[in-house]
Amino acid sequence: MLYEELARCYDRLEGTSSRLEMPSILAEFYQMVPPEELRQVVYLTQGKLNPDHVTEKLGMADKLILRAIIEVSRLPEEQVTELWMKEGDLGAVAERAVAQKVQTNLFSQPLTLERVVGNLRGIESAEGRNSQSTKVKLLTSLLHDASPLEARYLCRTVTGRMRVGAASMTILDALALAFGAKEDRADIERAFNVSSDIGTVAQQLAEGGMEAVRAIEVQVGRPLRSMLAERLPSLEEVLDKLGGVCALEYKYDGVRVQAHISPSGVTLYSRRLEDLTSNFPDVVESLQRSFKGQEAILEGECVPVERESGRLLPFQEVAHRRRKFGMEEAVRDYPVRLFLFDCVKLDGEDLTLNTFPRRRELLQSCIDEGEGLQLSRMEVVESASEAEEFFNAALDAGCEGIMAKSVQDNSVYRAGSRGFLWIKYKKDYRSDLSDTFDLVVVGAFAGKGKRKGVYGALLMAVYDPEGDVYQTVCKLGSGFDDAFLAELPGMLEPHSSPSPPLSLSTRMEADHWFEPALVLEVMGAEISLSPVHTAASSSLPDGSGLALRFPRFTGRVRDDKGPEQATTANELLAMYRSQSPS
Ligand code: ATP
Repeated sequence: MLYEELARCYDRLEGTSSRLEMPSILAEFYQMVPPEELRQVVYLTQGKLNPDHVTEKLGMADKLILRAIIEVSRLPEEQVTELWMKEGDLGAVAERAVAQKVQTNLFSQPLTLERVVGNLRGIESAEGRNSQSTKVKLLTSLLHDASPLEARYLCRTVTGRMRVGAASMTILDALALAFGAKEDRADIERAFNVSSDIGTVAQQLAEGGMEAVRAIEVQVGRPLRSMLAERLPSLEEVLDKLGGVCALEYKYDGVRVQAHISPSGVTLYSRRLEDLTSNFPDVVESLQRSFKGQEAILEGECVPVERESGRLLPFQEVAHRRRKFGMEEAVRDYPVRLFLFDCVKLDGEDLTLNTFPRRRELLQSCIDEGEGLQLSRMEVVESASEAEEFFNAALDAGCEGIMAKSVQDNSVYRAGSRGFLWIKYKKDYRSDLSDTFDLVVVGAFAGKGKRKGVYGALLMAVYDPEGDVYQTVCKLGSGFDDAFLAELPGMLEPHSSPSPPLSLSTRMEADHWFEPALVLEVMGAEISLSPVHTAASSSLPDGSGLALRFPRFTGRVRDDKGPEQATTANELLAMYRSQSPS
């Protein structure tokens, strides 16, 4: 297959102003792709070479990409740099430069997908002293044979900023359109949620149809997308929603860990599917000591504890485990304990369709609790007063609240979805302020007065998975200290975008735009209807959106969450309705 065909598809996606059209553009294209190449094409549609759980190392520094563009186009460096300043997008620079290049390459070969992927893999794996020149050489070789349009997307791919806006949900829509029927969409999504590998789903679908997709199961070594909780404002409502009886567990505040255990070792994944194994060698050891089966996928929360007393400490202490060096000291000085709360695979059996009580029973049967590892504290309750007692005990133990879990026959493990089978109830719900929100930075406003030279405020958004779109919800200007304000431009620079991201629905004009990436925890006092924000606007009358009033940054960067795991438009809407029933 020729890379030109993929580039044309990107161009159509970028050219459409309607997000509703994106799945059909992609579906039309996927149908043309040879099935054996579809897996790679799907990753590339997301600007990547690998499934989500493989850390992507494709990114090239801007100055190296510029070097390749200059080498191929033979244009003067000043001219290319000036073009870059003007366009703000290396893809556009490459496109213009290649279009103007002196036509010396009579022997140019059309780019095949195979060759592009081969060179990109070379760029991804280049390491060591000559890695920079190797990367430039591999990109130059591709640009040498590229059309202007291909050059645009090759350079965007290596910058890691595709600006095409096709995220997982849009791709799943496209796959259902291309190879299934409308009613297959839910099964296709389930296959993605249990495998976290959209390429595998695509290939199975194209080659073996829905039967092959339905056969995709959770697999040790391939993280699944985490099940998530809804929230309700009172224990009575929680109990009501769960049918009058439920399991309550402490809600520990640490890092969620998915442990994949097999005879060949233990791998730990975060809820963003990153490999955390090297950060928690002590947890790996505890699991190896305590696990009694052959292989399993277990889930739990890793919480910092005080060494002597075992008292739970604030989650921030875990951050020491994220640094790259001095892990031995970090393990010694910042001990953690893993509280296991679920078992989704055990000795060859996929347990995602088992009930929660059964999964808990199996979890209990395969673990010997020890100092570094325990099961989450759990109790089955049938009344609000029992629940209240358990909640108070959780707070006394240093937890942020409780998780209520359904014990009914339908209490399966719903990978990747937020639903009422799990409901969280936190102490924040009892204060005047409502809960915290995890919002995505999509823009920034230049600072004035005391904040001259740094950002004065950020434009924040929620995520709407149905439309696969980000919607603005507030301008965030308080809660920042000077050090964080000074750090922000550097944190956001890799995601900068010359214009509003295609995946953003906004009525506001910011001074700087960013691709959705950075998630911040924000406290809000109230949710109100707004003419300027777009959150949940498709569910509200008269084009109104929802706004978070008096937003304040809590100081917590949610680097354990990707943008698609931010607070959703629907969650915000439910909270708005619960605060002002209409
Ligand atoms: P929050 O921001 O409130 O921590 P969240 O958005 O990270 O929540 P939720 O699905 O709303 O995620 O809440 C579940 C999270 O709570 C899990 O991701 C996990 O990290 C944590 N947790 C702590 N204790 C438990 C428990 N006993 N059962 C399930 N999840 C737990």
